[in-house]
Amino acid sequence: NNTEMEAPMTRSAAAFLREQRVVPGGSMRHASWFPPHPPYAARGEGCWIVDLDNRRILDCANNFFSLVHGHAFPPIVAALTDAIANGTAFGLPMEGEIALAEALAARNPRLAQTRFCNSGTEAVMAAIKGARGTTGRHRIAKFEGCYHGSYDHAEVSLESKPEEWDDAAGNPASIAYAKGTPPAVLADTVVLPYADADRCAAILKREGPTLAAIILDPQASKAGMVPMPAEVIAAVKEACRRDGILLIVDEVVNFRLGLGGISPLFGLEPDFVTLGKIIGGGLPVGAVSGPAERMAVFNHAQGKPKVALGGTFSANPLTMAAGLASLTHYDEAAVARLNALGEALRQRVNQGMEAAGLPCRMAGAGSLFRLHLGARKVADYRSARPLPAETEALPRIHAAVLEAGILLTPNCSGALSTPMGEAQVAQIADALIQAVTAEVRA
Ligand code: PMP
Repeated sequence: NNTEMEAPMTRSAAAFLREQRVVPGGSMRHASWFPPHPPYAARGEGCWIVDLDNRRILDCANNFFSLVHGHAFPPIVAALTDAIANGTAFGLPMEGEIALAEALAARNPRLAQTRFCNSGTEAVMAAIKGARGTTGRHRIAKFEGCYHGSYDHAEVSLESKPEEWDDAAGNPASIAYAKGTPPAVLADTVVLPYADADRCAAILKREGPTLAAIILDPQASKAGMVPMPAEVIAAVKEACRRDGILLIVDEVVNFRLGLGGISPLFGLEPDFVTLGKIIGGGLPVGAVSGPAERMAVFNHAQGKPKVALGGTFSANPLTMAAGLASLTHYDEAAVARLNALGEALRQRVNQGMEAAGLPCRMAGAGSLFRLHLGARKVADYRSARPLPAETEALPRIHAAVLEAGILLTPNCSGALSTPMGEAQVAQIADALIQAVTAEVRA
């Protein structure tokens, strides 16, 4: 109808059209992209993003949970301003990397030594190589569906589907994620069930002697952001002890849950810890930490190390400065305050959903949360995976919450940041309850 006025195109829509010509799909990960296109960010301040159309959006995505202080946190801006005036890359060691490694060691003695890299993906790759170099074995085990970045072995079983996820023996199958994954990668990656201790123990009994490492995240987002059962952790510890397997705990996301990270909260004593996100203060970062005798595998000071871990931009002074400022201001009191804020959010959402009779629950721990549609108990990747109707509903809920001015990740999970307070918790809870109510009543 040509008498009807067309709405003027938003600046985000125009940017999207422009970007499609030169960047296929845009630069976001496919799992974090949402249709018709995300708003384009112009700048950020505290817990707010201002988009190209000048809309203020409460940011609960926080760059995939990497910003624990939100945007343009003044101490991080000051640290970066100081650092940048002195140059940005040297190809020589600098004191900043010592300071950040010391800060990690001070938070948890298990993180006695650290090597920095540029992403969590690299950290996971380096830890796996470190375990291989130490044990002389090449196979690893990981938990079904769990995300540890995009190193080939770490991707196995990500997004596996019901028709393929059991092998002939009824164990979780090693399913390729990326097309073209070499078959050897699948053969060398054992997949463990997140919530079945007996099956986990049986698989490890059989495969244990061939394994270099078991990698786990005890509160994995893809496993519903619910805790790994203590019996499963006990089975892992037993196998590591019995068969000389090294334990890698992936704390890229969950380091924020405790002052010394998540391992102490689960009684884990990892051989390697992989880190990233908040330890870089918003700049690209990854790190492998562990006890000195484990980290010796990367030591090149006396010639070629067993495992070389390099990187042109590793431990760059900007990341080290921002990371130190981030951790310094995320002290014991800040961790406790943010965790309590997350607890208040889950309570408010879950009480609200229950009072309204909505089949929806919020899981998570500390400042991290994830919404589950449906009334079933979520215990692992399989039960956390949305049913077909939920897969259709989640984007609508995500869109309604964004319409209310709040950015979540597309699967309706999020992370709180230190600039947030009770007002933001109320805003998030109310928007979620309203969005789910509208979805259920539609
Ligand atoms: N491990 C976990 C648990 C993660 O969530 C992620 C990224 N979200 C990674 C590793 C990979 O980190 P990066 O994106 O920095 O490569």
